[in-house]
Amino acid sequence: MADVIADPETDPAATYAVDPARVRALTARVIASGEDGELRTTTPLTGAPLAVLPVSSARDVAVAVDAARVAQQAWALTPVEHRAAVMLRVHDLLLDRQPELLDLVQLESGKARSHAFEEVADCAIVARHYARRAPALLRDTKHVGVLPMLSRAVEHHRPKGVVGIVSPWNYPLTLAVSDTIPALLAGNGVVHRPDSQASLTALAGAEIFAEAGLPDGLLQVVLGPGNPTGQAVVDHADYISFTGSTATGRRVAQSAGRRLVGISLELGGKNTMYVAADANLRRAVDGAVRACFSSAGQLCVSAERLVVHADVYDEFVPRFVERVSRMRLSTGLHWGAEMGSLASAEQKDKVLAHIEDAVSKGARVLTGGRARPDIGPLVVEPTVLEGVTSAMACRDEETFGPLVSVYRVHSDDEAVRLANDTEFGLNASVWTRDVRRGREIAGRIHAGTVNLNEGYAAAWGSVAAPMGGMKSSGLGRRHGREGLMKYTESQNITSQHLVGIAPLAGMSDRAFARGLTAALRVMKAVRMK
Ligand code: NAD
Repeated sequence: MADVIADPETDPAATYAVDPARVRALTARVIASGEDGELRTTTPLTGAPLAVLPVSSARDVAVAVDAARVAQQAWALTPVEHRAAVMLRVHDLLLDRQPELLDLVQLESGKARSHAFEEVADCAIVARHYARRAPALLRDTKHVGVLPMLSRAVEHHRPKGVVGIVSPWNYPLTLAVSDTIPALLAGNGVVHRPDSQASLTALAGAEIFAEAGLPDGLLQVVLGPGNPTGQAVVDHADYISFTGSTATGRRVAQSAGRRLVGISLELGGKNTMYVAADANLRRAVDGAVRACFSSAGQLCVSAERLVVHADVYDEFVPRFVERVSRMRLSTGLHWGAEMGSLASAEQKDKVLAHIEDAVSKGARVLTGGRARPDIGPLVVEPTVLEGVTSAMACRDEETFGPLVSVYRVHSDDEAVRLANDTEFGLNASVWTRDVRRGREIAGRIHAGTVNLNEGYAAAWGSVAAPMGGMKSSGLGRRHGREGLMKYTESQNITSQHLVGIAPLAGMSDRAFARGLTAALRVMKAVRMK
C-alpha cells in the first residue's frame, strides 16, 4: 500500500500526498451525514494538503453508538477465545502493513520513521499480550460465600457496552489501536473519535480490525472536532477512555460525572530523568536523546526535566549537548532521522514561546533554540536549556516539544524532591549502575511509571504491568490487568443452598444470633478469608 504515497526525498517530482481514492476507501464506513461539512488536513512535514475528510455531527455519533451497541450484543456472546484469535490476526496485519502505517503516521504527525515504528511495535505487543491473557483474566471466579458450602458466589466480568475512546494527535496508531484492543476483548463495542490530525491512521487501524474478522459495526470511527464530535462520544458512551491534556480531561470527567459513567484519563506530564552519580554516562547520554526527543518531545512520557548529580554534571551535560547538536533532523519518509517535525503550528508556537520566555528571564540555550524552516515548516531544533527557574513557564508547564531543561542536584534526595515538585505524576527515569538503589529512589517518585536505565520505553513496552498517571496526570491505568478489567463490570451471582440466611424453622432470632456468633469465631480461628 505504500506506493499510494510518494516521498519527495526519493522522488523529487512527487509531493507528499495520500491518493484520494485511498482516502475514500478509508472513510467509506464513517457515519457522517454531511450536516457538519467536511474537514481538510495538511501534513506537518511540508504543510501540503493531505486529505478531505467527512465530519460526524453529534447526531451521527449517536447513530454510530447505536450501531456499535447492536453489534455488541452478539459480540459479547462470542467466546473470549474467538475474540482473542481476532486480536492475534490484528497483530500479524499490523506487522505486515507496516509500510503504509508508517507513512500515514509520519504524514499525519510529522514524526521520524523510527518513532512511528514504536507505535507499530507497541500495538503488536498489546495485541499479543491481551490476546494471550484475556481468557484467564475474564474467566468467572468462584468465591467462598457467606455460609461456606451453602452460599456459592461466582464473579463474572460483563462488558460495559459501548466504550467511547477520545484521543489526541501525537500517537495516531497507538492511541487508535492499543486501548481499542482490550475494550473489544472484554466484549464491548467501541466508538473512537481520533484527533482530526490522526484520522487516516485511525481508519487504517479500523480497516485492519475488520480484515482480522471483527464483526461489522462493532468498531466505529467518527471524525470531527473535539466539540461537538468528541463531546458527543463522551455524552453517549457507557465508559470513556480519554487521552489528552489535563485541562480537557477535567472537563470530560465532569461530563462523565454528570452521567455517572466510568472514565479513565491519560493526561499530561512533566517528567524527570535523573542521572545519578554512579550512572553509566555513555548509556545515559544516548538514553536522554531518546527520552527527551522521541516524537519531537510530543510524547506524554518524554523527559522535560533532566536532573543531574553534581558529581557527573560537568561531564554528562557537555557530552549530552554535543550529542544533541549532532542529531539528524528530517521530514523525509525514510529511516535514519533522529527527529522529525512538530505536529502543528500551535505546537511550534508553544515550544518557541517557552524558549523565548525562559531566555528572556535569564536561561541559557546550551544547544538548539531555533525554528528550522529549511528542514520543514514546523521543525524546531532539539533544545537544551540551563538556568531555568520557577519564574519560567517551562519549569512547571508541560511544553510537549523538543525542549529539556538541565538541573544540578547534590543528592538523590534533592533529585526526588525536584521530580516530585510538580502537579503531574506520569513518568520518570533513574539512571544508576546500582539497580537496587535505583528501585529505592524510584519508589519515592510520585509517578505512575518509573524506568531504570531507560527513558520511557521499558515501562511503556512492559504491557503486562500497568501504566498511567498519578496526581494531575490521570485516573486509572492502561496495560496490565487494570487496562482490561476497567472495560468490564463485575457481577456477583451467588446461589444459596439448603438453608436461607435466616433462623431455621422454629429457631428464635436470639438463638440464630448466638449460633452465627459462634460460627464467626470458628471461621476466624480456621483462618477463613
Ligand atoms: P487536548 O486536551 O487539547 O485535546 C485532546 C483531544 O481531546 C483532542 O483531540 C481534542 O480535539 C479533544 N477534545 C477537546 N475538547 C473535547 C471535549 N469537550 N470532548 C471530547 N474531546 C475533546 O490535548 P492535545 O493538546 O491535543 O494533546 C496533547 C496532550 O495529551 C498532552 O498534555 C499530553 O501529555 C497528553 N497525552 C497524554 C497521554 C497519556 O497516555 N497520558 C498520551 C498522549 C498524550
